[in-house]
Amino acid sequence: MNIVVQKFGGTSLANDENREKVVEKIIAKYNKNYNIIVVVSAIGRAGDPYATDSLLNLVDKTFLDNREIDLLLSCGETISAVVLSNLLNKKGLKSKVFTGYQAGITTDENFGDAEITRIEPTKLIETLNKNEIAIVTGFQGMTTDKEITTLGRGGSDISAIALGKALSCESVEIYTDVDGVMTADPNIVPTAKVLETMCYSEVYQLAEDGAKVIHPKAIEIAQQYNVPVKIKNTFSNSSGTTIEEPDINYYNSRKKLYGNKIITAITYKKGRVQVNIKTDAEDHTEKLMEKITEHNISIDLINFFLDKKVFTIDKKDLTKLVKILDSESYEYEIVEDCCKLSAIGYKMQGLPGVMARIVSALSKEKIKILQSSDSHNTIWCLIHEKDLNKAIKVLHKVFELDK
Ligand code: ADP
Ligand code: MG
Repeated sequence: MNIVVQKFGGTSLANDENREKVVEKIIAKYNKNYNIIVVVSAIGRAGDPYATDSLLNLVDKTFLDNREIDLLLSCGETISAVVLSNLLNKKGLKSKVFTGYQAGITTDENFGDAEITRIEPTKLIETLNKNEIAIVTGFQGMTTDKEITTLGRGGSDISAIALGKALSCESVEIYTDVDGVMTADPNIVPTAKVLETMCYSEVYQLAEDGAKVIHPKAIEIAQQYNVPVKIKNTFSNSSGTTIEEPDINYYNSRKKLYGNKIITAITYKKGRVQVNIKTDAEDHTEKLMEKITEHNISIDLINFFLDKKVFTIDKKDLTKLVKILDSESYEYEIVEDCCKLSAIGYKMQGLPGVMARIVSALSKEKIKILQSSDSHNTIWCLIHEKDLNKAIKVLHKVFELDK
């Protein structure tokens, strides 16, 4: 069997006109003799009647357990799956809808951010064997205790890739509203270019650092099991971005496409808060770290010095952290409204001068770097959120990503 998973995001399913495009993509693949699993997100984005955020707005979360919230949120995908099935049937194709559970997706009990633990796609295979199209509701699964769970925001990407792996698919196509993975968020940099090929680790870093185009966990699974992934546009016929494991040929073909560019893409994460704590006592620091862990606060860009400890947190955790710091009478400074800028590229490893170029470009624009860090394929800079658009644009230009 030649199976392909096609996943369609919220905007692709937002209205009749868009859904017509979705149907065209499915039919085109079906006519090429593929067996097709379609994975859908909920219809539309915040404000649209059945979008995930609109469902969330129906309730006051403080008075509901995560179990019930998951039950509510799982309805969005069910609605869009049935609507799409209806359209396919109208065109003379036979399709069948499956919830996460019916598709055989088992998860752990972590409501709201559940992890897939097993997939037994028996019913999907039966459907494909009858030459029918299987439509699966993304973003959801069921515990062994028959509780409905969701996989976290953007989790339909995870469903698609996990199903791709379970069914040994030829490829997983993630359809969205842009032509592929781009050198920067096209909403900020209008000259951003589509990247034809990328390796898993670059896309993972890009997704992890804020580019919404695919869920980082989805890419992690794809990399682990070598699932070929394509990011494509529902509304165009562009070839999109192919994500694959790098080998010698990959590097050669990348070189042909992108020359010697050091940076592949730039992304950002808003809503970061810098925390600067004055302390020189080791046991003090140990206690602080224990408390932070206990309260489930994730910290990032961690720089510890003898006399101070600097790190960043998400703004949603600020109240919790301030409570901890005040209760232990720490001396501290907080810088709100920060943004983490990431310049990503596998070629920067061991190459001198990349940070120097970033510093020079940002300082020419009078943009302050509050903190920085690096790994084998990324340089991170913490900046004030007000400088974000200017910073991305200038780095995009300096590293010639628009060429
Ligand atoms: P979907 O609803 O299809 O899952 P998402 O909103 O999750 O779509 O992701 C697609 C969006 O990601 C695009 O509309 C684009 O604005 C945004 N985006 C941010 N950074 C990038 C990037 N580097 N490349 C492509 N898209 C990006
Ligand atoms: Mg998405």
